Amino acid sequence: MLWRGRRQSDNIEDERSDSGGGGGLGGGGQFRVPIGGRTGGGGSILLVILVVLAGWYFGFDPSQILGGGDGGLLPGGGQITGTQDNGNAPANDEMKQFVATVLADTEDTWTGIFKSQGLTYEDPKLVLFSGQVRSACGFASAAAGPFYCPGDHKVYLDMTFFQQLDQQFGASGEFARAYVVAHEVGHHVQNLTGIMGKFNQMRQGMSEADANQLSVRIELQADCFAGVWAHFTQQKGILEQGDIESALNAAKQIGDDTLQKKMQGYVVPESFNHGTSQQRQTWLARGFKSGKLSDCNTMSGPI
Ligand SMILES: [Zn+2]
Repeated sequence: MLWRGRRQSDNIEDERSDSGGGGGLGGGGQFRVPIGGRTGGGGSILLVILVVLAGWYFGFDPSQILGGGDGGLLPGGGQITGTQDNGNAPANDEMKQFVATVLADTEDTWTGIFKSQGLTYEDPKLVLFSGQVRSACGFASAAAGPFYCPGDHKVYLDMTFFQQLDQQFGASGEFARAYVVAHEVGHHVQNLTGIMGKFNQMRQGMSEADANQLSVRIELQADCFAGVWAHFTQQKGILEQGDIESALNAAKQIGDDTLQKKMQGYVVPESFNHGTSQQRQTWLARGFKSGKLSDCNTMSGPI
């Protein structure tokens, strides 16, 4: 992606130094809740109680964080590898510039799309954190992967996830990283358009299996929206050879079936909540091909 020299977003909130490499929570927070994505270990009941209590105390809806983030690790999965606290290293600063440029490009694209529908796009903030972070949706650990919190309209990203994407998941390339950012921004679009609110309403009282199926539809739509963004990025002439392939490969590598096979050796389809590799690639490609929101209706019909 020919991103250097292009506009960088002002909507980055760099909280990496606050967290001291995964130690404190900043702001005097005393809770150290080890939210590790969809772990099903013995501590999970205690964890749920802690999160609910913390939610009650801080006034957020804990159900929003218990679902984990995007690209989170599976039960028994390893930790993020690589250096834990290189938040201020030059390499990371370049990565920060890259993320800020991709974010700016999503702002331009979605502002244009919303305008064409007579709507106003409100830019999300993107919080860079290191280790763990406190959001309006609760505390989250980097192990849960990047996530979007509808409560504060912010995308949360620990950039060590990019290393994990590359080294652990086999999804290398700049545009694989851009796709991750664009997918989270896709959730923001769902929030602004009311889709996410409806989703959160609908999943109340659902069985876990049904809620997972609904979650897959939401996630595939975020993939499709990432594809819509990539479509307009291509029109600007800033995509390079291999970019879209690297995003499609990332979609494949973080598909639920591929991830589960890799991490635990077998698949549990009822637990899928992001979609299979095939589904994720299909919806990303669909959005990319047409650039039309109307082609991203994952909420009804077969997926
Ligand atoms: Zn997602």
